[in-house]
Amino acid sequence: MSKVIVITGASSGIGQATAELLAQQGNQLVLGARREARLQDLVKRIKAANGDAIYAVTDVTDLASVKNLAQTAIEHYGRIDVWMNNAGLMPQSNFIDGRVDDWNRMIDVNLRGVLNGIDAALPTMRKQKAGHFINTASIAAHATHPGGGVYSATKAGVLMISDALRQEEVQAQSNVRVTVVSPGAINTELVNSITDPNVKKGTAQFYDQVAINPDQIAASIAFAINTPEAASINELIIRPSKQQA
Ligand code: NDP
Repeated sequence: MSKVIVITGASSGIGQATAELLAQQGNQLVLGARREARLQDLVKRIKAANGDAIYAVTDVTDLASVKNLAQTAIEHYGRIDVWMNNAGLMPQSNFIDGRVDDWNRMIDVNLRGVLNGIDAALPTMRKQKAGHFINTASIAAHATHPGGGVYSATKAGVLMISDALRQEEVQAQSNVRVTVVSPGAINTELVNSITDPNVKKGTAQFYDQVAINPDQIAASIAFAINTPEAASINELIIRPSKQQA
């Protein structure tokens, strides 16, 4: 059955690949990100392949902007079946380097952005007595390393927020499911968000060796969405086969 699916961070990488796959499967996509030209191109490509998609320029750090994305979905398609909180960035660095702006941006986008998405979509899902959040965390939610402290903290936060949300919705008998997606190294634009040149170089070299394409993550997300409603896939951890940790 066709679903109305909202994706933040849809202008590149995992969000874009997921949007394309879910549109091919006959769903109606509502795409959010800041770069309008990218969203326009994506909607054009989806429509050219007989898919159905719209977009709203969205900054996930701004609650009003995220609520506007939800409103766009409701005005156009009348409901929100799936909301994917996927926008994120990974400017890793050691604490001694004092890149406080990067820490704050990660907290704002990776953590506050997810909370804004929940606030924008949950009341509608409660009314519908149906819905599904897909929250993109990371394997960094499960383990950290030097330079990864703040990124891991935001992603571990996504994990905890998601499980509390899942439990609250079970208690409320709302039929709202929650799935966390925790990828390993995926070939996207994420490495470009690293501002420390040495960290960026090292990460890019690692990604060149092991990273896989986002299509595999998209396929796993589609699997979680298409799982019959009596079952809830709570977390998907997907590493490249070549990635050790
Ligand atoms: P990309 O850099 O390719 O995509 C990030 C997306 O987030 C872009 O569409 C970007 O769009 C959007 N975004 C960033 N800031 C904002 C904002 N303030 N408001 C709205 N959208 C925003 O990276 P990925 O596809 O890899 O990242 C997607 C998610 O996957 C992230 O949460 C990331 O942490 C996670 N992840 C990625 C892994 C990887 O190896 N690639 C591994 C584990 C997790 P725009 O700039 O147009 O706003």
